[in-house]
Amino acid sequence: MTIPQSANLAYHDRVKKILPGGVHYNFNIPWEEVPLHFVNGKGSRLVDMDGKEYLDLYARFGAMILGHANEEYLDALNEAMRRVLCVSHCDFDADALESMNAHIPSAEMIRFGLSGTEILQTALRLARAYTGRNRFLRFENHYHGNADNVMGGRVLDRRIPAPVDFRGDYKGTAGRANDIMAEQSFMIPWNDFERLEEFFAEYGDTLACVLTEPVAVNAGSIDAAPGYLERLRELSTQHGVVLIFDEMITGMRLGVGGAQKRLGVTPDLATFGKAIGGGGVPVSALVGSRQIMRLLEDKTVIHAGTYNGYPLGTAAVKATFDILSRDDESATLQMQRRISELQDTLVREATRVGLPLVVQGPAGVSSFHCNDTPLSTPGDYGFEVMSKDIIVATSLQRHGVLISSVSRIYPNVQLTDGDLDFFESRVGAALTEAKQLIDEIY
Ligand code: PMP
Repeated sequence: MTIPQSANLAYHDRVKKILPGGVHYNFNIPWEEVPLHFVNGKGSRLVDMDGKEYLDLYARFGAMILGHANEEYLDALNEAMRRVLCVSHCDFDADALESMNAHIPSAEMIRFGLSGTEILQTALRLARAYTGRNRFLRFENHYHGNADNVMGGRVLDRRIPAPVDFRGDYKGTAGRANDIMAEQSFMIPWNDFERLEEFFAEYGDTLACVLTEPVAVNAGSIDAAPGYLERLRELSTQHGVVLIFDEMITGMRLGVGGAQKRLGVTPDLATFGKAIGGGGVPVSALVGSRQIMRLLEDKTVIHAGTYNGYPLGTAAVKATFDILSRDDESATLQMQRRISELQDTLVREATRVGLPLVVQGPAGVSSFHCNDTPLSTPGDYGFEVMSKDIIVATSLQRHGVLISSVSRIYPNVQLTDGDLDFFESRVGAALTEAKQLIDEIY
């Protein structure tokens, strides 16, 4: 599939001579990605090296919740940098810890890391040490980072639901340690009560933990079916399994208490990253019950890292919580209201040009899909829907609106009415072009 691009190809070619693919990260997708190169950003807008302006609903995979050049955030980072750039412990650690502890229901104790990938592996280690069991359960099309044991895979034999590599998996990779997925994990479809019951009856007592996104954002922003997370909680407790919520995306975007507070289900452990530090500097966090986190205190479990809890990171967490929790989270509520309006415009314009399109998922972590109805399980997110979504996202990009992979809409708290007007002025032409291309292909 060739999709027209709007990037600076000469610059891309220059970078590509040294940087593999000309990109800083890649999945196993069968087309060349041609990135935009930005020179500056303010609020919800970015400017690329050709001087073209964009509305940024990409937000670096959801991390940039505070928007670009957020003055209060930059002041906090500047102050921290001038005081002490890197030491192992500093005098604003307690502020960041207490903010998280006050807002996130499962955060009795907290440790910091840098990336989501890394902190998730620490969560798995802790769960294994706590239970004395090896295997974990994860769900189809959820994403938990760039590590051999959690990326992609498919179950071939329903009776033994251990994932294995398959050809054409865009999250599949050569070079993975042999059999690591099949040895360590199980995988079942999400939102399927029957399969969940069946699975726990057979394997529940052998599991160390269950790993789930509380909203399946990576699978297309699918909400948990009513009662599904509650049932996961019950089954985990009954079988002595550690329940882990991967709140890398939902953390902060659904409110400062994360999805767990909003949905009223408290996991044993939870992982945060991306927006937890406002998006400008890398920070991730593992939070959990004192009972489990105590294994770090008594040194049964190792958690190491040169930059764990570095001052700029903890200052960023503190500033982000200060900004987002102020006035009963008014900034987040306003952001969610504005993005709902933008979503309505998108759906209205799609209807006008005759393109079937729905938006689903909580405001702040929603996705659009070129489909008549919302997806109800990650398995619904098939090749055709995804391909059409990519055509729409690419067309929006050509018209100055950046959408995250594949069709995620990530607003920030600086989103203004002017940004909504900008979107409205671009979306009609973008969807008209996308519809033409979709009609040619399908
Ligand atoms: N978990 C989820 C739910 C994610 O969306 C991501 C990143 N997309 C990760 C884990 C991995 O985080 P990182 O990219 O910081 O390693």
